[in-house]
Parts: sequence; structure tokens; C-alpha cells
Amino acid sequence: MTNFKTGLDFALELDRNDKLSHFRNQFHIPKHTDGKDCIYLCGNSLGLQPRVTQSYINQELKDWAELGVEGHVHGKNPWLSYHELLTDNMASIVGAKPIEVVVMNTLTTNLHLMMVSFYKPTKKRYKIVIEGDAFPSDKYAVESQLRHHGYDDKEGLISWNSREGEELLRYEDLEKILERYGDEIALIMVGGVNYYTGQFFDLKRITELGHMHGCVVGFDCAHGAGNVNLDLHNSGADFAIWCSYKYLNSGPGSLSGVFVHERHAYNKELNRFTGWWSHNKETRFKMRDDFDMLPGAEGWQLSNPPILSMAAIKASLDVFAEAGMDNLVAKSKDLTAYFEFLLNELNNDNIKIITPSNENERGCQLSIQVKNADRNLNQKLTKAGIISDWREPDVIRCAPVPLYNSFEDIYNMVERLKLILNEK
Ligand SMILES: *Cc1c(COP(=O)(O)O)cnc(C)c1O
Repeated sequence: MTNFKTGLDFALELDRNDKLSHFRNQFHIPKHTDGKDCIYLCGNSLGLQPRVTQSYINQELKDWAELGVEGHVHGKNPWLSYHELLTDNMASIVGAKPIEVVVMNTLTTNLHLMMVSFYKPTKKRYKIVIEGDAFPSDKYAVESQLRHHGYDDKEGLISWNSREGEELLRYEDLEKILERYGDEIALIMVGGVNYYTGQFFDLKRITELGHMHGCVVGFDCAHGAGNVNLDLHNSGADFAIWCSYKYLNSGPGSLSGVFVHERHAYNKELNRFTGWWSHNKETRFKMRDDFDMLPGAEGWQLSNPPILSMAAIKASLDVFAEAGMDNLVAKSKDLTAYFEFLLNELNNDNIKIITPSNENERGCQLSIQVKNADRNLNQKLTKAGIISDWREPDVIRCAPVPLYNSFEDIYNMVERLKLILNEK
């Protein structure tokens, strides 16, 4: 869609024509002090709660109350195999085969577990490439892996940086890094969608480049899962990880998803940390058998999982399945383009959108850089009922989420931002 117009009437017309607009009612929208809905643009940080979540969790509380340990086998959704109820929907959201996906642990934990298997440094090839403005947890995790293997974390870490005066990363620069250091690099680990700029990387291109130079390639898709079409299987990536509490609306600190490419599904040579949940399901409770690895991503599980958290994930994935990822991505593109249009219409030289303008190189986040602004601006936005995310030094990140944000939300956001920017 390109023919946008200014004015509230046009926003309301877009909402009337939006086939997904009714999904907003399936979510709890936080209220502002005036009792009206907040304009919630923080789904990239913590997604909102689906109204059905409570009943999914209550079902498990009820089975626990009434059945105790028997719930593992006789619950409505037996806990022993509960995680399997999440696999198909999660796999379709990230574009993977079911054998490639499991939900377990939390994100940074899984990043470490993946590096146990996929970061195998040798004397000559031990370096790790990350993106310049990587999410801090990823950077810390990667540095600690270098140290764990006895390498210097400064010397061993290569940053794929943006150029002077630019925000976005260029593939030519990654190519140069690989031409120069390719045979010293063991692992390329970048965010599928950069958390700061919202740049959605070409996962296939990065993977092919890395593989051509003999590197393992993994992605942190925390800002991509439930936001963009990741198409993980076809990207050829060796592994990926993501959390379920951002775009996947599964509640604070909820569990993480893991992708391990099918080509590694039966590889028993890969080093890994194991636990009883990585062991063959059929014989798990015989307890005295030697270890017998489960094939696929499931073979990386350690523990029996927290069912209450999984129930929240199941609730959310059922909403996603009903809406359909393709429909969501289509609306997301319109919503984000409309947002961009209105911001550009402000004609304010103090604001600059640093997110790519190409709709295929971004998801639903726009990062807006405001000249000479500080945290004060964010406080004013909050006071005006807008929940967005401030990142130092001068960026407001806003994520119009297609499941629960309306075109009217975007219209009101930009109107309020305009008032605040024009204040003296
Ligand atoms: C949100 C996010 C994290 C957070 O990690 P947790 O282990 O869930 O606390 C890590 N990396 C990226 C890229 C993120 O976006």
C-alpha cells in the first residue's frame, strides 16, 4: 500500500478495511491514567497478554490440583509431552521443519548450549563475528565463550560495524571481513533483526557467505520471531535461538525457541551438554540405561520444562495460528509504512528514521532518532499515554504490532509526538 493520506478519517478507514482488526480485542491493552487504552508500541520488548492465556494456565493449575503427579500422564494435556504441543506452530512461525524446533530454557542459556555444540574453536580457527551493535547479552555470552576456551575476548571477537556516519550494516563489509579473516573465523552469530536499528538481515546471504568460508552460522532471532518471515530452514543456518516474550506474547521471562538445522538432526558426534530430557522418550524412565540421544532439536533439552510458562506459549501460538503469519506480515508492512509516511509528513529536521526504508529489510519496528533529545522526551511520551522504548543516546524504538495495534494508534502517536516536539 502506498497511497496514504493524512488525517484521522483515513486511519479509521484503514482500520475498517483491516481483516485482522478484531484480534486487538483478544488482548489486554494497558490503560492510561485517563482510563483510555495506552498506545502500546513496546511489543518488541514485552508483548501484550492474550485474553485466553489465563484459561490455558488455569487448566494446568487445575490438573495439578486434581491429579498431582498423575498430571504428567493423565492431564488434559499430559505434561510429559507438553512441549510437543508447541512445536508445529512454532516451527511454522519461524519457517522451519518440526524436527528442527524445540521450546526450552531461556534465550541466553540456549545461546550458550548452541555454542557448546557449534562453536568448536581450533588453534587456527577460533574467532567469532557479531554485529557491531549487538544486544549486550549476546555480546557477553560470546565473549565468555571465547574466554572459556582460553582465548582473549578482544582479540577473538570481530565486529561487523556500520560505516562512519551510517547506522545500517552493509553486506560488502561482512564480505571484506570474511575475505580477510575467513579461515580464522569459527562462528558468525548475528541478530536476525538488529534490536536497535530494526534492520532485518538477509539470513540466507549471510549463511551462504559464512559457509563458503568454512564458518558455522547462527542467528539470534529474538526480534525476528513472530515479526518477520525468517524462513530458517531455507536460510541454511546451522542454529537459531529466540525468546517468546517479545513478539510472541508469552509473558515476562517466558521460554525460548531453538532451531537446529535438519542436517545436524542425527549427528551424534556433535558435542553437547545433555540431561534426561535429551534422552530417548521411550526409555527415559527406565533410568538405568546408557544415554540414547533424541534426534533433532529435542535432543538439546536438559530438563522437564515449566508447564505454566509453556501454557502461556501455547495460548499465544494458538492466536498466531488463527491469524496466520503471512497475514500478520502483510498488515505489519502496511502499518509500518503508514507510520513512516506520517513521520515524514511532519517535515521535522530533528527526527530521522534509522530503520531501513525498504519493507523487506525491516519488521514492524521503527527506530526514530531525535536530535538533541534525552530521556525527558520519553517521559513526555509516557505522560501522553504512549508506551515506547527509549535507547541511549537519542533513539525511540516503536513497534506497531499487527496483532493488537491499530492504524488509529499510529495516527494518535504521531499527533502526540508532533505536539511534544513543537513544545518550547
Ligand atoms: C531480548 C533479547 C535478549 C534477552 O535474553 P534473555 O536471555 O531472554 O534475557 C538477548 N538477545 C537479544 C538479541 C534480545 O533481543
